[in-house]
Amino acid sequence: METIKTKPTKTGMYENVLRQYNQAADIMGLHDGIRKILVNTNNEILVNFPVKLDDGSIEVFTGYRVQHNNALGPYKGGLRYHPTVDIDAARALAMWMTWKTAIVGLPYGGGKGGIQIDPSKYSQSELERITRRFTYALGDNIGPDLDIPAPDVNTNARIMAWIADTYSSIKSPSVRQKNMHVVTGKPVGSGGLEGRDRATGFGVVCNIKKWAKSAQKELNGMTFIVQGFGNVGYWASHFLSKEGAKLLAVQDASATIASAEGFDPDDLLKYAAENDGNIKGYEHGSELEDQHFFAIDCDIIIPAALGNQITADNSMQIKAKVIAEGANGPISVDAEKILLRNGIEIIPDILCNSGGVIGSYYEWLQNKRSENWKLDTVLEMIEDKLNDAYDRITEVSKIYNVSSRTAAYIVALKRLELTYKERGVFP
Ligand code: NAD
Repeated sequence: METIKTKPTKTGMYENVLRQYNQAADIMGLHDGIRKILVNTNNEILVNFPVKLDDGSIEVFTGYRVQHNNALGPYKGGLRYHPTVDIDAARALAMWMTWKTAIVGLPYGGGKGGIQIDPSKYSQSELERITRRFTYALGDNIGPDLDIPAPDVNTNARIMAWIADTYSSIKSPSVRQKNMHVVTGKPVGSGGLEGRDRATGFGVVCNIKKWAKSAQKELNGMTFIVQGFGNVGYWASHFLSKEGAKLLAVQDASATIASAEGFDPDDLLKYAAENDGNIKGYEHGSELEDQHFFAIDCDIIIPAALGNQITADNSMQIKAKVIAEGANGPISVDAEKILLRNGIEIIPDILCNSGGVIGSYYEWLQNKRSENWKLDTVLEMIEDKLNDAYDRITEVSKIYNVSSRTAAYIVALKRLELTYKERGVFP
């Protein structure tokens, strides 16, 4: 294991998060010392680990876990399996987690990690060995009271179950059962929470409902498009369609498809499930060139795939009224300026997709207390926390006359600043 500390080397999500942070810190006058603490990550863990593949050959994989800050509680954040995972991506995503957990008032800090890998190139048994060996390599750098991973891009409940099982298996028998909450997003049969699967997409739609209410608009009859049709994209489409909005287009890694009549998200999910998770070839609607996606005339855009998808280059095409960031960091800082100038509202990621981490918190609590909660109770608790956070951010945005994103940062940074001021810095 190696601990690395390097300066940012390239543009992307990390540059965006630092620019967003500095802007908010300037506006609110964040304490200088605390500003220095929060611009840095606490720990950056990089592990290289070998795995035997199905054909008997050995491959070495690189995994990351960045622990940004734990002033408010254990590090919390997802694990991503994707070729774009690197130290800068993990840093950016970990910082966003710190702001996110602070905004919704959870007793957590922020962390994020993953493996630089294209999982579609590996069999299920290879993915299982890769996951278990990664967990073993991380060892006690994660833990139920230290750092609690969760699903993110290309990771799911099954992968979380492998992590929980591996982590517990390397503990002594008397404490194995006390470690299931080392990860959240597990299958319900393995300590998971009813509703954690839909928590992020559900939360995105709770935020859209708040936006519609404050803008005095009806969601029934509105149109929307979704980028990414995985966990977040599907569930957001499902819940928004239930509000009466029409899904005009979907883009995933395989294709961009559109239909003037609108798609049924549940039917599309069924098709994708039979096609390795891809929407390409779906018989309803027609296929479009990828670059035309964001130009589609609609009321709501839900980016629910990767970071930096809406940039200064394509933001001018956007005609929607609101962009609800299901993904982390889908809009670059330069694109955001253009969008706001064009009167397009943005529900920022650190609020909009925080239903996922709220769900994770309830799963963690449920495991700690050996309890089981019902789906309706869970969704109600998530919606309550999101509504409170939405109202607080709206209030702060008015007080400082700033965008929702900057207001969300100010809410988070004020909470962290207060904690550091109360507690001081050791020794
Ligand atoms: P997922 O792996 O379930 O789905 C990802 C989707 O994005 C897939 O449909 C994939 O085809 C698509 N995609 C990948 N590359 C693409 C590209 N270049 N263009 C268009 N589509 C592409 O992942 P997820 O869990 O739904 O996460 C999606 C986003 O939401 C990520 O930014 C993640 O960080 C964020 N998020 C997820 C959660 C969660 O609970 N899963 C919580 C908060 C935020």
